[in-house]
Amino acid sequence: MERFSQQVRDEVARAEWNGCTDCIKAELAAILHMSGCIHIVGKEKWSISITSESAGVVRRVVRLLKSSYQVVSEIRVEQVERLGKHHRYLLMIPAQEKLAEMTYELGMLTRENRIENGISPDLVRKPCCRASFLRGAFLAGGSISDPQKTTYHLELVASNEEFADGLVYLMSLLNLKAKQGKRKEQYLVYLKDSESIARFLSLINAYQGVIKLEEIRVIKGLRGEVNRLVNCETANLEKTLSTAWRQVELIRRLMKENLFSQLSANLQYTASLRLEHPEASLKELAELHQPPISKSAVNHRLREIGRFAEKFLDDAGDALIKEKE
Ligand SMILES: [Zn+2]
Repeated sequence: MERFSQQVRDEVARAEWNGCTDCIKAELAAILHMSGCIHIVGKEKWSISITSESAGVVRRVVRLLKSSYQVVSEIRVEQVERLGKHHRYLLMIPAQEKLAEMTYELGMLTRENRIENGISPDLVRKPCCRASFLRGAFLAGGSISDPQKTTYHLELVASNEEFADGLVYLMSLLNLKAKQGKRKEQYLVYLKDSESIARFLSLINAYQGVIKLEEIRVIKGLRGEVNRLVNCETANLEKTLSTAWRQVELIRRLMKENLFSQLSANLQYTASLRLEHPEASLKELAELHQPPISKSAVNHRLREIGRFAEKFLDDAGDALIKEKE
């Protein structure tokens, strides 16, 4: 797995739960569906195993199991030859009293003891639980390509088509347009545009991942814009671009220093539009607001951000205060 992908997965595995009590079940259900296996050990008795290459994910599952079902489990580490020095972690949940109820509730088995392929609607009734389900899906079967590469790509791997359909539907309820594909015996659900990927990452609490992605998006956007401007010798546009570049730098620093959330909602909104549209002039930026605001209001907000930054970051405020357009 790529480095960026691992970083995002580790960040998510450490993330706090900020949803409702059912969110834990939704997340567990997704993990069990995607990397769990049911073993029949007797009449109406079964154990469950979960495999993962990430110790962080396995530790998270142990915590989730304990807090929601008081189920006991045990971690084993295996060396996997084909992956070189990699380890594989095996989590065994032996047959025990509460396991049957858990297996039904998490939609792994139907009450008739048949394997449930799809996603049980009961688990994902609330938006917070939908996001938690996707978090589990990413932890168990998700990966994301390094945003420095030419194309953006985030995928979830499902073992059957019904589950993949369910993931696509779930994502559509959260305004994410996912595509589906097939690779050998695997069913893929994937996102290709950076905006959806950033949204997906923030839904699953991968905030550092979002910041990294945004940074690279800005740099790529600027590079494209600079290329476009080469043939268009407008000094004014270049000035706009370099001012915007300084503003973008400043906003990114506020994010890095965890100061961004201290800006008012209006300022955050304007700042995030500037991040997404580093090439836009003040007038264009004003029109991008929903509802649109005036050019002087945008200028005012950018100055406010500058003053705020000046207060908290060394000599960083200059960039925005000098804005005279
Ligand atoms: Zn919830």
